[in-house]
Amino acid sequence: MTHDIHIIGGGLAGSEAAWQLAEAGFRVKLSEMRGTGEATPAHHTDGLAELVCSNSFRSDDAESNAVGLLHAEMRGLGSVILREADVHKVPAGSALAVDRDRFSAGVTAALTQHPNITIVRERVDALPADGPTIIATGPLTASGLATNIAGATGADALAFFDAIAPIVHFDSVDMETAWFQSRWNKGEGKDYINCAMNREQYEAFHAGLIGGEKTEFKDWERDTPYFEGCMPIEVMAERGLDTLRFGPMKPVGLDDPRTGRWPHAVVQLRQDNAQGTLWNIVGFQTKLKHAEQVRLFRTIPGLENAEFARLGGLHRNTFLRSPELLDPTLRLKNRPNIRFAGQITGCEGYVESAAVGLMAGRFAIAELRGETLEAPPIETALGALLHHITGAAVAETYQPMNVNFGLMPPIPGRTKKADRKKMYTDRARTAMQGWLATAG
Ligand SMILES: Cc1cc2nc3c(=O)[nH]c(=O)nc-3n(C[C@H](O)[C@H](O)[C@H](O)COP(=O)(O)OP(=O)(O)OC[C@H]3O[C@@H](n4cnc5c(N)ncnc54)[C@H](O)[C@@H]3O)c2cc1C
Repeated sequence: MTHDIHIIGGGLAGSEAAWQLAEAGFRVKLSEMRGTGEATPAHHTDGLAELVCSNSFRSDDAESNAVGLLHAEMRGLGSVILREADVHKVPAGSALAVDRDRFSAGVTAALTQHPNITIVRERVDALPADGPTIIATGPLTASGLATNIAGATGADALAFFDAIAPIVHFDSVDMETAWFQSRWNKGEGKDYINCAMNREQYEAFHAGLIGGEKTEFKDWERDTPYFEGCMPIEVMAERGLDTLRFGPMKPVGLDDPRTGRWPHAVVQLRQDNAQGTLWNIVGFQTKLKHAEQVRLFRTIPGLENAEFARLGGLHRNTFLRSPELLDPTLRLKNRPNIRFAGQITGCEGYVESAAVGLMAGRFAIAELRGETLEAPPIETALGALLHHITGAAVAETYQPMNVNFGLMPPIPGRTKKADRKKMYTDRARTAMQGWLATAG
């Protein structure tokens, strides 16, 4: 064998994983299909770590922003993606934005010149039967491999439209107005947060959905079907004034504690992570523009001051039900020679994809050395993201997720929002130092 590990996919995650392993002295074969005449619908070049859309790695503020904190943790672990981003940054205020071509060229050069990395331009269709492997083929994984991954994981299909509903931070919900209750008091009787609307509020909300500005589908997205089960809420609204009252905003079986009666319509939120810090708005997948979503969803009684961990959207994506399928070190439980990394694990964003690539690389290094490596603590940005992917998220409603403070255990007590963010990042730094001291 000419290599110690095979990495499939030379995007953000695969490049970072390859770098980590090569720097640790392991020989890496990196297979990338671009450069053979193959392409994804979003990539335009043959360069490694191509940024397919925006040129921003988002906030670089490590004191009060979760993605800025993630940057800092990755820099501390020798990330090639962050190193090249820093070299090729362009002015963007407190954000880290890059010259995309120079950035990609920088990553490509670093990997090409590394004596432990062999880049092979080839499309891989089959899942390697044995030998350590990392699959980092991203949200636009080529269809042959996607079919084989689906077969190995028991999924019907992997490429579909995400039905992304907005997710709200629990501590921004006004629980004086909203209340806990399950429809007909089923289950625990209080599994949902409910926000009641009277007729006037509902009709104004309905008009907002119909009139709101939407994002358009890209050409290649039009070919991917979406299902009745994940119909955008504004498409449902267009079917008639009361369609939503018979669908996701159905009020039956829900007693408004202030009136003791069923309201005209109800918006329900369902717990989205084990800590109970994040709640998704049930059935509210939408293609409304982000600013429009914030404006309209804050008209919902109880959500006037809602802070969103993620806004809604519908786009083609390929990702695993990772909380069910992957072990804590990102290995496929039923084929442990295979690890997954990047957006295919269900993280969202350039930085998060590279971060999961970095950790997949580090876990593989430990395994190749015959050691074990625990994930970083959940109080760190890296740890929070990994815990979410490999278990903390609710598997049935699992959807791609950016890093955010809501993935971490809440800071106890009541503090001002600005102070709380600093408390999260201070706590994360201490936890990361502790992990580095034990993880080596
Ligand atoms: C249209 C679109 C726009 C996006 N815009 C943004 C944005 O603006 N900001 C942001 O933060 N995130 C964005 N994302 C989300 C996400 O962060 C990026 O997709 C990110 O590139 C994911 O990193 P990755 O390494 O997991 O996958 P990728 O960067 O896509 O890398 C996967 C690589 O695997 C290769 N590959 C695929 N199949 C095979 C195969 N069978 N054999 C060999 N090679 C294969 C591909 O050619 C590609 O190079 C966007 C996603 C999409 C789809």
